[in-house]
Amino acid sequence: MNIKDYSAFELSKLIREKKIKPTEVMLDTIKGINKVDGDIKAFLRLEEEKAFHDAGKLDNSIDESKLLCGVPVANKDNILIKGRVSSCSSRILENFNSIYNAHVIDCVLNDQGLFVGNTNMDEFAMGSSTETSYYQKTSNPWDKERVPGGSSGGSAAAVGAGEVLLALGSDTGGSIRQPASFCGVVGLKPTYGLVSRYGLVAFASSLDQIGTISQDVKDSALLLSVIAGHDKKDSTSFPCGKRNYVDSLTGDIKGLKIGIPKEYFREGINKEVKENIEKGINSLEGLGAEMIPVSLPHTQYAVAAYYVLATAEASSNLARYDGVKYGFRDQKDNDLIDMYIESRTKGFGTEVKRRILLGTFVLSSGYYDAYYKKAQKVRTLILQDFNEVFKKVDIVLTPTSPTTAFKIGEKATNPLEMYLSDICTISVNLAGLPAISVPSGFDKDKMPIGLQLIGPAFSEESLLNTAYTFEQGVFKIDKKERILS
Ligand code: GLN
Repeated sequence: MNIKDYSAFELSKLIREKKIKPTEVMLDTIKGINKVDGDIKAFLRLEEEKAFHDAGKLDNSIDESKLLCGVPVANKDNILIKGRVSSCSSRILENFNSIYNAHVIDCVLNDQGLFVGNTNMDEFAMGSSTETSYYQKTSNPWDKERVPGGSSGGSAAAVGAGEVLLALGSDTGGSIRQPASFCGVVGLKPTYGLVSRYGLVAFASSLDQIGTISQDVKDSALLLSVIAGHDKKDSTSFPCGKRNYVDSLTGDIKGLKIGIPKEYFREGINKEVKENIEKGINSLEGLGAEMIPVSLPHTQYAVAAYYVLATAEASSNLARYDGVKYGFRDQKDNDLIDMYIESRTKGFGTEVKRRILLGTFVLSSGYYDAYYKKAQKVRTLILQDFNEVFKKVDIVLTPTSPTTAFKIGEKATNPLEMYLSDICTISVNLAGLPAISVPSGFDKDKMPIGLQLIGPAFSEESLLNTAYTFEQGVFKIDKKERILS
């Protein structure tokens, strides 16, 4: 039996049927990670001993009613696991040991999932290439010279390479979907409020959302079933019960109305990406969907509004890292104010400081109305655009990213260009909607392309089913093409 041939859904079934044990799966997984992660550097910390220990405990206590049953899961380094370091890839949280589990972590453990380690990310999830990590640069599994995307680049690279089948990520402006498209995997950002943010280190609280990264759509549905649902510890958590999203995968999209917004197919979108997405549109039409041209007229203001709002919230959220309560403290013998300044100066990287400065500026008296308030108004207009479009269509289809993965270093010194990587994903967070990126092909350099589907709030079932139908009927990456197969 080659474990690598199976999906998470299939593996959990095999474990449930006692055809394979969690320790065997874990052994194979750790072996695989050790084989390739020296090159990929997806993991910040691999917790081998703990993972084996947990797997061993599960060997004789599998509960057949659970969804994961011993399947290994990778965790993004901004989601807290009790007793383990969660650094957010920042120096300022270098030795920060979490004292509680994030809600999603409890959900995964409750469904008998096993954590193998935390993955690399952009510092505090600020970035689109995972290059702003204080610790290491992660490589794209399809080309080591290229970035995996970001900020959940470690999680996407780990799944893309085949090191793990499931990973958690977080998405504030595209950080699950864009790396998923760069690494040839499926990335789902759920509706704001469907998955609890309790225990997710805050970047921009009104935009942050935890979601799933997997090799195929069914596995995304599986992991979403585990992590979605109401949590009273998050005041923005939507009061809804648990459901099994795998049940909604029928593979039938006949009569589905898909909107194609012209604003997402203009200049700035790479030609190969555009052609690939157009091919995808034709194929979906062949499967019975109806394509309807639509317009989201305020799309052009999304990136600007996002960088005002996200940085404003970040500047407030990151005020708590003062060298006193968490992580790194400058050790020089100085007074309190100097200690704050030195700890923050040394603890934060350039991109994080840039965001704190920008956020503090847009919130300052005299500028607040011109920037922050204006951006809030733009946010409302963007949501209204979607509301109008969803009166006519069920789902909106766009590219996930304007390009495929770029070279490491290519955009690292040009923040504005880096910010444009999220031009296709950011509106979704501003509007609080769910969206999924599925692999839709490769460019001529054999770099994966991603197709994005956006739905109305809480339309995860139809979104997943459309993505599943695309995967089954149009394009799916063969497991054998991944590094670890
Ligand atoms: N790339 C965007 C940013 O840098 C989005 C990041 C994210 O979704 N966490 O802010």
